[in-house]
Amino acid sequence: MTAGPSSLPEDAADSLPGGPLDVIVIGAGPAGLTASIYLARYHLRIAVLDAGRSRAATIPRTHNHAGYPNGIAGTELLGLMTEQAERHGVRVERAVVEKIALEDGLFTVASADATWNARSVLLATGVVNNPPPLAPELHDAALARGLLRYCPVCDGYEVTDQRIGVIGHGERGLGEARFLRSYSSDVTLIGWPDGHGLDEAQQDSARELGIALAPAKCESLHLDGERIMVNCGGQSLGFDTIYPALGSVIRSELAISLGAACNDEGCLIIDTHQRTSIAGLYAAGDVTKGLDQISHAMGEAAVAATAIRNDLAGQAPLLR
Ligand SMILES: Cc1cc2nc3c(=O)[nH]c(=O)nc-3n(C[C@H](O)[C@H](O)[C@H](O)COP(=O)(O)OP(=O)(O)OC[C@H]3O[C@@H](n4cnc5c(N)ncnc54)[C@H](O)[C@@H]3O)c2cc1C
Repeated sequence: MTAGPSSLPEDAADSLPGGPLDVIVIGAGPAGLTASIYLARYHLRIAVLDAGRSRAATIPRTHNHAGYPNGIAGTELLGLMTEQAERHGVRVERAVVEKIALEDGLFTVASADATWNARSVLLATGVVNNPPPLAPELHDAALARGLLRYCPVCDGYEVTDQRIGVIGHGERGLGEARFLRSYSSDVTLIGWPDGHGLDEAQQDSARELGIALAPAKCESLHLDGERIMVNCGGQSLGFDTIYPALGSVIRSELAISLGAACNDEGCLIIDTHQRTSIAGLYAAGDVTKGLDQISHAMGEAAVAATAIRNDLAGQAPLLR
């Protein structure tokens, strides 16, 4: 058996030689691509479906992903992983999965114009960051230039001793500012969409830590040369970089539609082998609760792929 991803006409998967696929991987970011490489190397028949919006593609250059001493752009890393998957017969299909159903142990996954059937599904759909008030074209330009950043764990090191603004609210905003305080003595918390929303005790804590609080909520952002400017209360504050701390949309809705358990934020709850609460449905990467990092996504994907292989082998021997 080979990895046989394919774009199938409606209901055609049932007529595939050998019956339904072994696995459908939804999402081709670091998690989905890693899983695809493992699954193909286990000689499983898979489809890989991807909407083409990996968060990794927005990383100008990662410097904390081991193995790349000079760093690597997110698009280049994804390109190399895709090439590695393709060398094992995988073809990543551009498709937005809209529906998933489960009947008698068989999953049916549907986009607007095709369906796929498989005995198991790996959800590797990631998350989408909630953006600050910045026009989309300025947002992407700011991201590319490091004036806007979303991940202090990833790139706080790169802004050591710089002037940092955190746009956020309440404990989430304060927590991010506190984290960044270990990189710079110049950290300001700016409230959005309302004020900073800190109670007296939290404001005292911010003062003790040397975190400045902006005088008013953020009204808008714009770029000015090498700085990103925050307009608040008639003032324009300039920063070397801004970290929005506005949370994310967890792309777990397909699993939840099947009844999979998730936490309050919407992250899928998984066991130590990446199994969700639905038999045959697995999850890996940012869509689960954990450190939202490339290495973590890849590690979870390796565990998921191996669990899928072993669970399938438990149902029927996998014989060459
Ligand atoms: C600006 C920025 C910088 C970062 N820097 C770093 C860094 O330096 N180091 C680091 O380790 N991490 C970094 N990260 C985090 C890293 O990008 C993520 O942890 C990683 O991409 C998670 O991989 P994933 O495969 O779980 O999700 P993603 O990479 O987001 O991939 C999910 C894929 O699933 C697809 N998908 C979603 N829903 C569907 C659907 N219904 N049908 C089909 N496809 C679907 C999406 O389109 C996407 O292609 C950064 C993130 C950002 C935003």
